Amino acid sequence: MGAYSAFGLLREAIRGPRAWQPLWERRAPEAAYDVVIVGGGGHGLATAYHLARHFGLRRVAVLERTLIGYGNVGRNTTIVRSNYLLPENQHFYEDALRRWRSLGRELNYNIMFSPRGVLDLATSDDQLAACARRGNAMRLAGIDAELLDRAAVGRFARALDCGAVRQFPIHGGLLQRRGGTVRHDAVAWGYARAAARLGVHIIEQCEVLGVVRVAGRIAGVETSRGTIAAERVGIAVAGGTAELARRLGIALPLETHLLQAGVTEPVKPMLDRVLIYMFPHGGEVYVSQSDRGGLVFGGMLDGYPSMTQRGEITRVRDVAAALTSLLPQVKQLRLLRHWAGMNDMTMDGSPIIDRIGGDELYLNGGWCYGGFKATPASGYAFAELIARGRASELIRAFRLSRFASGHLLDESGAGPFPSRQ
Ligand SMILES: Cc1cc2nc3c(=O)[nH]c(=O)nc-3n(C[C@H](O)[C@H](O)[C@H](O)COP(=O)(O)OP(=O)(O)OC[C@H]3O[C@@H](n4cnc5c(N)ncnc54)[C@H](O)[C@@H]3O)c2cc1C
Repeated sequence: MGAYSAFGLLREAIRGPRAWQPLWERRAPEAAYDVVIVGGGGHGLATAYHLARHFGLRRVAVLERTLIGYGNVGRNTTIVRSNYLLPENQHFYEDALRRWRSLGRELNYNIMFSPRGVLDLATSDDQLAACARRGNAMRLAGIDAELLDRAAVGRFARALDCGAVRQFPIHGGLLQRRGGTVRHDAVAWGYARAAARLGVHIIEQCEVLGVVRVAGRIAGVETSRGTIAAERVGIAVAGGTAELARRLGIALPLETHLLQAGVTEPVKPMLDRVLIYMFPHGGEVYVSQSDRGGLVFGGMLDGYPSMTQRGEITRVRDVAAALTSLLPQVKQLRLLRHWAGMNDMTMDGSPIIDRIGGDELYLNGGWCYGGFKATPASGYAFAELIARGRASELIRAFRLSRFASGHLLDESGAGPFPSRQ
C-alpha cells in the first residue's frame, strides 16, 4: 500500500531519485523459457502477468523491441468503454470494463481509472437512430446505455453549448456512464512490475526476427540478442503484427495505418466527460481532459498504410478543426504536442486472438484503434489460450479463420457510428 500513501511519497522525495527502486529488473535473455511473449505493450505484459499469476507458468519472458510503454500502450487517448453493437464484442469489452474497475487494486498500482462517462454525439437523425439501435442492443446484453436528447446532452456535458451554431448540430447522443479513461502508461508500468514480481523476465531492446522450428514445430525465437528456446510463443506486437507475420511466412488480413493524437497546453478543469463527435460523412474528434489539464484528442486514421509512427500535420489540423467546432472555447489553446501510433487494422474492426496452425504459436492482434480498452480482458484470455491450448468462449469468435469462412464480426460496418478508440 506504500505506493499510495502520502508518507511514502514524502519519503521518496527526501531520498531522491538515486534511491528509487526500478519497477522491474533489467534482464538479459536466458537460453530457454516455457513461454516467450513477443511485444511489451499492454497486451503482452498483461498476458505474461496472467500466465504467471493464474496459470502457474513462471518461466515466462516478454521480449520488447524498444522500451516498455513506447508502443501504442503509451500513445493512445486512454478511453475505455464497452458500448459495442455485436454480442461477441459486447461481452468481451464488458469483461474488460469490469476488470478495469479492480485492476489498480489487483496490481497495487494507481492506474487512475476514471469512469466519467463516454458520450457519442449524434449529428443527424440517422446517427441518433443508430445510437438508439446500438443502445438497445447493449441493454439487451445487460450493459448500461442511455439515449440522450439534445437537452440531456447539455445537462450531462456542461462544457458543451448544444445550441451553438455549428456545421453539424448536436441532435442527441448515446451515453455509457461506466465508460471513461485510464492512465495508459500506468497500465504498462503496473503490469510490468506485477509480472516481474511473479518472476517474469522483461527484456527490452530485444527484437524478435523470426521463429525457430525443429521438425516443423515451434522451438523458440530468433532475436537481435540471439536464439531463445521456448515451448510456446505468443505474439502481441500490435502495429507490428503484419510485418512480423510476414517474416514468419504467415499472411494475415491486416493493414498497418497511423492514428494520431494530440494534447493542448494544460488548463483548469473544464471537461469532465469523454466526448465523441462524428460528422455524418466521415471525420470525427474524441476528447477528454487529462489530470494534468491538457485536452487529449484524436480523430481518424491518416488514410494510407504506414509504419513511420509519425503522422501528417494535415490530419492533425482537420481533427483540431473538428475539436474547435465542438468546443469553440478551446480555440486559443496551443497544441503542446502530437504523435502517431501504428494500428493493425482488420477489415471487420474486430481483433484476432488465436492459435495458429495447430502449432504452439499464438497470435493476439488486429486491435485497430480500440485495443487499449481491451487490455485486461485480452491479457487474461490470451494467457488462458496459451496455457490451455484452446480458446475460452469469450474469444472464440476472434479466430483467424473467420476471414476465410466469411463469419466476420463487422463492427466497423455497423452504421454511422463505427466503434472506435
Ligand atoms: C493515437 C492512438 C490513440 C488510441 N486511442 C485509443 C483509445 O482511446 N482507446 C483504446 O481502447 N485504444 C486506443 N488506441 C489503440 C490502442 O492503443 C492499441 O490497440 C493497443 O494499445 C495495442 O496493444 P498494445 O498495448 O499491446 O500495443 P503496443 O503498446 O504497441 O505493444 C506492442 C509492442 O510490440 C513491440 N514489437 C513490435 N514488433 C516487435 C518485434 N518484432 N519484437 C519485439 N517487440 C516488438 C513494439 O515495440 C511495442 O512495444 C489508440 C491508438 C493510437 C495510436
